[in-house]
Amino acid sequence: MSDANPVLAPWQQRVHDHAAVALDAGKLGHAQLFCGPVHMGKHAVALQLARRLMCTQPVAGGAPCSKCRGCELMVAGTHPDFMDISFIPTRDGSKLRTEIVIEQIRALSEQLTLTPQFGGAQVAIIDPADMINHAASNALLKTLEEPVPGRHLWLVSARPEKLSATIRSRCQRLEFRLPPRDEARAWLQAQGHPQKAADEALDAARGHPGLADAWLHDGGIALRREVAADLAKLARGDLGAVEAAQRWTAGDDTAMRLRHAADLAVAEAASLTAPARMRKLAAWFDAANRTRELLQTTVRADLAVAELLLAWRG
Ligand SMILES: [Zn+2]
Repeated sequence: MSDANPVLAPWQQRVHDHAAVALDAGKLGHAQLFCGPVHMGKHAVALQLARRLMCTQPVAGGAPCSKCRGCELMVAGTHPDFMDISFIPTRDGSKLRTEIVIEQIRALSEQLTLTPQFGGAQVAIIDPADMINHAASNALLKTLEEPVPGRHLWLVSARPEKLSATIRSRCQRLEFRLPPRDEARAWLQAQGHPQKAADEALDAARGHPGLADAWLHDGGIALRREVAADLAKLARGDLGAVEAAQRWTAGDDTAMRLRHAADLAVAEAASLTAPARMRKLAAWFDAANRTRELLQTTVRADLAVAELLLAWRG
């Protein structure tokens, strides 16, 4: 079924339809910034809009036909006039890079100067655009400053504030916003999640349905329950900070545990009225986030987490 048009979530459909109207009227700016939280489906919407542009025989309403050569090549991921730019492997091929580098942007600029092979539009998606490194960012700016009709440059980012102000100023924004609660619940249930689980996940994800869905699939909600139980035990003195820290840092989910822990601290603070305890939780929230950043460094994770958990108890 990969050739069928994907079913977009209602909040994705709204952004898609808004952009599609402008696109069909030839009024969509050359550079767009798709922004909003992770797991909102920004890339899926950008891809669907690209398919719309690449289809040579759109059906009623302008949707891609899924049958023409343009559509076939888009589904196969080999359309010569479409570029989906993300992290490429390192030189020795052992892992993916963690930033988008200048060679990629140079190749993109080069491509955009060529006549489209299908004679239609050219589209490039850059995701995550906020991970373009400095040199690549300067190269991208040149491309942004020389718009060519029919060439579309779509930047996708969950952290648009990390992009340079000059790049941001060259783009129009397509904002993905969290949907109303009822819509999020209905969508989660349509994904096959029982209502009770969907509600718990939606609360934990603060109304973000895509994140709730991801947590329900990858065990994130179970992990959150475990973190909450550990924090309660630590507070009561039923669990030692060192022992808990060893457990929290034994696997590859340490950052996720700290994220849940920080979030649980905020949730607890929100339910309180005592200013002293609230201040303490706010400070602990900051400390948890700092510890999460420390995990990226050479610091010993178990020691850093033990220190954090000692502070929870105190
Ligand atoms: Zn088509």
